[in-house]
Amino acid sequence: MMQPFKQPDLTDSLVELVRRAATVLPSDMETALEKAKEEEEPGSAAQSALEAILTNVELAKKNSTPICQDTGTPIFEIHYPFGVSTRVLAEQIRKAVAIATERAYLRPNAVDSLTGRNTGDNTGEEFPTMHFHEWDKDYIHVDLLLKGGGCENVSTQYKLPNARLGAGRDLEGVRRVALDAVYQAQGKGCAPGVLGIAIGGDRGSSYVKSKQLLLRKLDEPNPDPKLAELEARIHEEANELGIGPMGFGGKTTVLGVKIGALHRLPASYFVSVAYMCWANRRASMDVHFDGEQMEVSYA
Ligand code: SF4
Repeated sequence: MMQPFKQPDLTDSLVELVRRAATVLPSDMETALEKAKEEEEPGSAAQSALEAILTNVELAKKNSTPICQDTGTPIFEIHYPFGVSTRVLAEQIRKAVAIATERAYLRPNAVDSLTGRNTGDNTGEEFPTMHFHEWDKDYIHVDLLLKGGGCENVSTQYKLPNARLGAGRDLEGVRRVALDAVYQAQGKGCAPGVLGIAIGGDRGSSYVKSKQLLLRKLDEPNPDPKLAELEARIHEEANELGIGPMGFGGKTTVLGVKIGALHRLPASYFVSVAYMCWANRRASMDVHFDGEQMEVSYA
């Protein structure tokens, strides 16, 4: 008879994943913020804002405290091999999130939309967000993104064609709406940010994809040369808008642009723009198994 897969308890490792995501800004983000600070006018409000952000990042890392008071929606993307129970894994994730909240790595953020009551432990209906993907590898990979509320409020979706912006159903149309999204945000959502831009899909899948794109590191190139070119162009042009860090004016409005595409219905052409603030908190972990032994590594 086939032996059932012995599911490991990943709760403690997941708590550590949450701690890392909430308190340590990824190194590519920190490097980009440092570079932006050097490029802003000495003594300008933009440079001061970036200095304050970087001091905050340093203190959070040193003291293991949240980088921002809004620790956002925890979004987990889980890749797992055949045999893993996603039900058990989901329970462990919810438990880990509750423990991380108790330890103050996360602010209690899950509010009942009908009663306004905060559950107090960051668990609730579809909270935290989890997406499970079975793959053909023999280990578990978990990505975690903490998506702040302010930047979520300026994330948006367009339906092309868009007459106001003269945006058609092509990459030029995508460029126009992406720049409009940055212009409309006007620094709200805590610029400088990162854009995740999903082309196609339906309204729901397009929004989900736009956030998944934010998991790609700033220095990780787009494998599609056309999209890589568009990313560079939107990045450059968004920084010419002069909105600047926290909307104070300056050269740095956006730190990176990540674009992906989904198949769509002939009748629809959605473009979703996930705006992520400078507190682009993401962390990942790999769990390898060797018989009874389990090895966990973080990135
Ligand atoms: S948008 Fe980001 S940096 Fe601004 S308050 Fe929210 S989580 Fe913090």
